[in-house]
Amino acid sequence: MHCTKCGAENGPTELYCFQCGNPLPTESLSESQQLIVQKNTNYYGKCFSALRRGKKFSWNWAAFLGFGLWAAYRKMWAVSLLWLVALQGAFFFQALWLTSLLMLLGGLFGNKLYYRKVRCTVKDIAAQPQKARQAQLARRGGVSIGAAVLVGVLLLLLCLWWAFFFRGMPALVAVRG
Ligand SMILES: [Zn+2]
Repeated sequence: MHCTKCGAENGPTELYCFQCGNPLPTESLSESQQLIVQKNTNYYGKCFSALRRGKKFSWNWAAFLGFGLWAAYRKMWAVSLLWLVALQGAFFFQALWLTSLLMLLGGLFGNKLYYRKVRCTVKDIAAQPQKARQAQLARRGGVSIGAAVLVGVLLLLLCLWWAFFFRGMPALVAVRG
């Protein structure tokens, strides 16, 4: 396999280029998929290839621990927003089981969702005229630390809000048990 940085030919099992040390693309992630994933391409190469081989789940710790943040980091805006909303339901009912369930689902299905997003993006970008591709790629590919931070801050504010909400309603909490 050729190094994407210096072009040197490396063995199929190498993870880093022997010449320049650049991380090598895994064989399972296509060139256009790499352009979209950008970070942790080796990890996602393995996950995607496992899913492609018919594995039902592919566990993702980041998606388990902070699904909405991870989804935003991977530019899955709608999914991230949905998670935030669902979490508010869990907070409202003070349902620890629902929070745990949401975390579990995130860990189990995060990679699957991301794999779907990457494939869709590859297809959409390929359908664009050549000169629009770069802009599309910049918008939809890669990762966004800023978006993850934003979701994190939003979550923190919502947690604070719920804390005040429940403190202001001790009677209701008492009734709920
Ligand atoms: Zn190289």
